[in-house]
Amino acid sequence: MTVTPELMNATAAKYRNGTLSIEDTSLEEIASAVGTPVYVYSSEMLKSQYLKLDKALDSLPHQLHYAVKANSTLAVLKTFAELGAGFDIVSGGELSRVLAAGGNPESVVFSGVGKSVEEIDFALKTGIECFNVESDSELMRISQRAEVLGKIAPIALRINPNVDPKTHPYISTGLKENKFGILQEAALALYQQAHADPNLHVRGVACHIGSQISDPTPLFDTLDQLLALIDQLADQGIQLTDIDLGGGFGVTYQDEASFDVNAWGIQVIERLASRGLTVSIEPGRFLTANAGVLLTRVEYLKPSGAPAQADEGHTDEGKNFAIVDAAMNDLLRPSLYQAWHGVLAVQEHSASETRSWDLVGPICESGDWLAKNRILSLAEGDLLAILSAGAYGSSLSSNYNTRNRAAEVMVRGDSFRVVRRRESLQDQLTTEIL
Ligand SMILES: *Cc1c(COP(=O)(O)O)cnc(C)c1O
Repeated sequence: MTVTPELMNATAAKYRNGTLSIEDTSLEEIASAVGTPVYVYSSEMLKSQYLKLDKALDSLPHQLHYAVKANSTLAVLKTFAELGAGFDIVSGGELSRVLAAGGNPESVVFSGVGKSVEEIDFALKTGIECFNVESDSELMRISQRAEVLGKIAPIALRINPNVDPKTHPYISTGLKENKFGILQEAALALYQQAHADPNLHVRGVACHIGSQISDPTPLFDTLDQLLALIDQLADQGIQLTDIDLGGGFGVTYQDEASFDVNAWGIQVIERLASRGLTVSIEPGRFLTANAGVLLTRVEYLKPSGAPAQADEGHTDEGKNFAIVDAAMNDLLRPSLYQAWHGVLAVQEHSASETRSWDLVGPICESGDWLAKNRILSLAEGDLLAILSAGAYGSSLSSNYNTRNRAAEVMVRGDSFRVVRRRESLQDQLTTEIL
């Protein structure tokens, strides 16, 4: 078994009559029509994941802000905009994408430690919901720009609660050693300064402690800290109306239990029911990861190890490399975080003997791999699906080795649409001057 039952249950990809499909559309059909590598998303799963979180907070005034950086493809943004989502952005570019997808600027929160003057001006003119401010200097800059433009800037302070989210160090953001947010000790004084500033409208408090969180305890610890701060501020006559709990809800990549949304929701409601605050969350990965796969074709097999025995994890002698047409420029997570992604053959039947394979891309880097030590039965030309690729896949892709970025496809039932055409070399060369 290359993929656990938990992952089979979590992914949008399912076998139908021996062929891996998304909704009622065969991945074989998509690959023949569009080529590979190609990202494929289930619109149905994007919606159902959104509705799970929305429902968990049903009894509170709330707003979901989809974290655009997880997957910023316009068709994905539009799918969420149509459900009433707001958006969490980290750049002016992401704000442009939200607007192009028909998102409502009044439901946009702007996070990130390095907001430029141009980005702040753009957001002020667009009339976003809130700036989640990450430093003293940023607060001053936003105030100055608001004054220049004759606007009042809505702000929240993003608090760094110094709570360990117990996740991969690269995706932890709420520890003192991380660059994000304002330390609790400094927050009171900064709130007072903001409250006294006529260019600013103090709306709330925000946090985001990390990603791929499975145990909700650190989230509750953070929430309790924010509530204590809200009470302290109220004592000083500063009434906050909004609380932003951040994102980070974990998903199943291998055998992790996916985040228990309902159990989390019950505790959040318990803590917030009597407070009259508007709650927001900033989910990214939870909404998109398992709604997407990356389809890739085997170009070459380079077997130098013996066939694996039954379900043995690896063989001692040599390595078996399957060189596929997707690479680290398409899906960086394995190279960047040693992330594990499930791999399934699109055709369920096995034509040849099984071996333990490393799936590697064509890029000239030893770090260019997508999966290691997978027991698969492979032939050249086979089509494979790399699972859980809907988050931090296409949005993290690059042109390294002058590779064109992959096409993207949205499935709806038994039909599909190319929502991003494959990039061309002309697209890549057009910005350059000899
Ligand atoms: C990345 C990010 C998120 C989303 O994180 P996920 O783990 O994808 O849910 C939310 N808020 C902020 C500020 C972020 O930087």
